[in-house]
Amino acid sequence: MMETKSPIVQLPAGKETVTVKLINAVNFGPAILNRFMAPPVPSVTTHKTHSPSLCFLIEHGSGRKLVWDLGIRKDYDNYAPSIATYIPTTNYDIQVKVNVIDILEENGIRGSEIEAVIWSHWHWDHIGDPSTFPPTTDLVVGAGFKEAMLPGAPANPESPIRESDYAGRNLREISFDGPHSLRIGRFPAFDYFGDGSFYLLDSPGHAVGHLCGLARTTTGPDTFILLGGDVCHYPGIFRPSEHLPVPESISPHPCNPQSDLPFCPGSAFDDLQKSRGRKPTDTLYDMTYGLDIPLATTTVGHLQDLDCNENVFVIIAHDGSVRDGVDHFPKSLNAWKEKGWGNMLSHLQASTSDTHMATMQLQNKEHCRINTDIAARKIGSTERAGVLDVPHYGSPDWDCLLGPESGKSASGLPSGCQPLGARPSATTPHFDPAMYLIVVVLKLDP
Ligand SMILES: [Zn+2]
Repeated sequence: MMETKSPIVQLPAGKETVTVKLINAVNFGPAILNRFMAPPVPSVTTHKTHSPSLCFLIEHGSGRKLVWDLGIRKDYDNYAPSIATYIPTTNYDIQVKVNVIDILEENGIRGSEIEAVIWSHWHWDHIGDPSTFPPTTDLVVGAGFKEAMLPGAPANPESPIRESDYAGRNLREISFDGPHSLRIGRFPAFDYFGDGSFYLLDSPGHAVGHLCGLARTTTGPDTFILLGGDVCHYPGIFRPSEHLPVPESISPHPCNPQSDLPFCPGSAFDDLQKSRGRKPTDTLYDMTYGLDIPLATTTVGHLQDLDCNENVFVIIAHDGSVRDGVDHFPKSLNAWKEKGWGNMLSHLQASTSDTHMATMQLQNKEHCRINTDIAARKIGSTERAGVLDVPHYGSPDWDCLLGPESGKSASGLPSGCQPLGARPSATTPHFDPAMYLIVVVLKLDP
């Protein structure tokens, strides 16, 4: 097993939990990476798949219910005019058929049961259409929101939000120095229900008053899901980290657990980082998009303090690997740790999705040589194995990674590294819930 890092943040004790359910109402893209992050990884310009904008239903034992973010409204032409005219300039393909409220109602949850919609921040891909909820539903926003954002359109025709988003309902701005406030790690926090089951975290930088959520999902041991919103657009902006580096070896071997040989991640990731002026323990990318990038980068440090805790599962809004790897509403995420969807998992999905891009380009080149480089990290779920999409992974160019079984040489492997020996897939029997995420960083010979 992997060594477990001792948590550097003492999470608050508590006896109450909330139930967290993931709602994936929209996928959109492609995101052009250089708008959001740098320095570039050679051959990688966009994500493999469209990104979700994840929303969550949060249910308290008392019956009180919250909705975390609303994604993109299905009638996105009806955003405030400044946004409605902006969206076509992104060239995004936006796949959205329903609003979050529709998904709730289809499953017997009425809008009147939702105490509040929480906006992680005001960006169009998160705010949906709050007016689809009855006036009894509060709209919760982060510190500084009202001052910076009111009024919406049409009172302020330039505003990116609409007055109808908040008109006639309680627009509740969270204060992090009043009652129910505390600190969790370096985050100012607010205990929403007052019983330690769900905290809001002040996480500014990406947008004014950006909020994260921290939901206690089990007790004994205490586990948490951290709802990250856009605290980072991409896992590779907060991983790896000093606290959670790419490991030197993985045992048992992810594809061949009966073997005595550990899986060697090789030096590729380090080399890649060096080639881009970075240390191996630096994140894959720096963020280049946001309201206040230095402040947002400080916030990323706070996030990393929690991300290395094996009892905290960080889910950022646009993480397609989490979308593809966990149960969705109406099922709950609470057993994430038991199911192996957990935090150690999350590492470098970034690179994995990038790898598909690199691979596809590789397939188009003749006589290219793979300087392999395989980094791996323990992750949690069977589904996660799906990130190693077989059609790409199993392409002829990959056979040299598979060792003698493929009849090709493994000469591309760095010395000391073992070939995978088998072609993993989501259905490979030994891809059991103690799974590994394998990150392959390819370098193309010109
Ligand atoms: Zn976003």
